[in-house]
Amino acid sequence: MYGSQNKWCFVPGCKNTSRSAPNKKFLSVPENYSRKVKWFKAARRDIPKSKSTFFCCEDHFKLEEDMENYIRYKLIGSKMILKADVVPHIFDCQPDRKRAASTPERSVALKRQRKQLVEEALLCEAKEVNPQYELISSHGRGR
Ligand SMILES: [Zn+2]
Repeated sequence: MYGSQNKWCFVPGCKNTSRSAPNKKFLSVPENYSRKVKWFKAARRDIPKSKSTFFCCEDHFKLEEDMENYIRYKLIGSKMILKADVVPHIFDCQPDRKRAASTPERSVALKRQRKQLVEEALLCEAKEVNPQYELISSHGRGR
């Protein structure tokens, strides 16, 4: 039905293509410009000037919730229709985002990491300040 057209996911960091993941569904990015902008923003990608069609793999959606006709689609295999305001919203392929939606356990580790960073920064500052002190005091001695 779709021929042999090779599709690939437009989300940066996502490696799914219709060849590497033939079982995944690929949704075409809306042609409508304002919707297209939203999709590209959601995926953290610049809006391309080219008019070519982009695809987004199902990994970035929760199809049962995001589709208008999920049941029909499942039952009779009709064309997938996404709800009008839906944009890609699952980005497991982008590691920095995964952290943002992390478990409490993870955020504690992150806090600890941050604290360590602050302490290190303070240490560095102290090291930077000290030589200056010596310089000033040696000047003082020269007088
Ligand atoms: Zn993808």
